[in-house]
Amino acid sequence: MIKVGIGYDVHQLKVDEDLFIGGVKVLSDFGSVGHSDGDALSHAIADALLGAAGLGDIGKFFPSDDDTWKGVESSVFISDVISRITKIGYKVNNVDATIILQSPKIEKYIGQINEALSEVMILDQSRINIKATTTDRLGVIGEGLGWASMAVVTLIKST
Ligand SMILES: [Zn+2]
Repeated sequence: MIKVGIGYDVHQLKVDEDLFIGGVKVLSDFGSVGHSDGDALSHAIADALLGAAGLGDIGKFFPSDDDTWKGVESSVFISDVISRITKIGYKVNNVDATIILQSPKIEKYIGQINEALSEVMILDQSRINIKATTTDRLGVIGEGLGWASMAVVTLIKST
């Protein structure tokens, strides 16, 4: 049996913030605003994992009004979710995600992002596919006010 989950996340972009995408620090004039490190890609993947496992969503486990998660690296969320999924007998089959960001161009970071996610998810790189797109300068993302990520995950029974 295959279980599918979807995740979507948006964060504001501002000067004097860091931009972390899938745990990789990207050189940028603007960074992501968030209670944690604002890593929309990691949040979308964590949400997709929880969704596929039928466990709810990221806000249920890591609420943004809880200071425990203030400034925390989002790899912590993914690791925690992976252990929850493993505990109930699932393993990740594959992850497909899209980063929606007007600038900077992040094509050159895709390999690093794939590698970082592979490490935190304890998952072969061939099972992770990361894509990047812009909105052709349209809307809040196109104007550089924010960025988004969406992810789809499939899980299979590990036993
Ligand atoms: Zn988020």
